[in-house]
Amino acid sequence: INSNEFIKQHIRTVPDWPQVGVQFRDITTLLQDPKVFRVLIDIFLARYADAKLDLVAGMDARGFILGSVVAYELNIGFVPIRKKGKLPFTTVSESYELEYGSATVELHTDACKAGDRVLLIDDLIATGGTMMAGKKLLERLGATVVEGAVIVDLPELGGSKLIEDSGLPLFKVCDFA
Ligand code: 5GP
Repeated sequence: INSNEFIKQHIRTVPDWPQVGVQFRDITTLLQDPKVFRVLIDIFLARYADAKLDLVAGMDARGFILGSVVAYELNIGFVPIRKKGKLPFTTVSESYELEYGSATVELHTDACKAGDRVLLIDDLIATGGTMMAGKKLLERLGATVVEGAVIVDLPELGGSKLIEDSGLPLFKVCDFA
């Protein structure tokens, strides 16, 4: 099997969590196995080694785990895009709709500067709202979001299409249709 399929096989599906009817794709099983975690990070490093990136931005919270390792290995900085109320300095913020209610994410105003080439990382794309909000925050600071990268796409929820239609290329290691 190829490495993408290897990664997919190490993701656990938890039925009916956090709500009845949801099949939660749990990446903790992947992270806790050092061989699998390394294969995953090496997939990202191979893709971005020559991308001339200035920064990696990671989405709260699983995007921090992946994004910080990738940034460290590429010898570039890491910036967190956090849920509302967690960042201490001045921020820009973006709200987006969830199935029930809304969510807000924030980014420090000095996290990046105009023209920076940024990779945006999260673990999974569902409706795409989270990654779209992250993209908007980075763009409000004048950054160029080079690509979005995730482990898992759930194509049936339409998020990856929404993001690609917005002009942001997406790199997905695997999908669950
Ligand atoms: P979206 O905004 O695309 O609807 O949802 C994606 C966000 O919710 C990501 O930050 C992701 O971590 C989280 N998420 C939603 N569903 C799942 C899931 O099944 N598994 C994991 N690991 N994260 C999920």
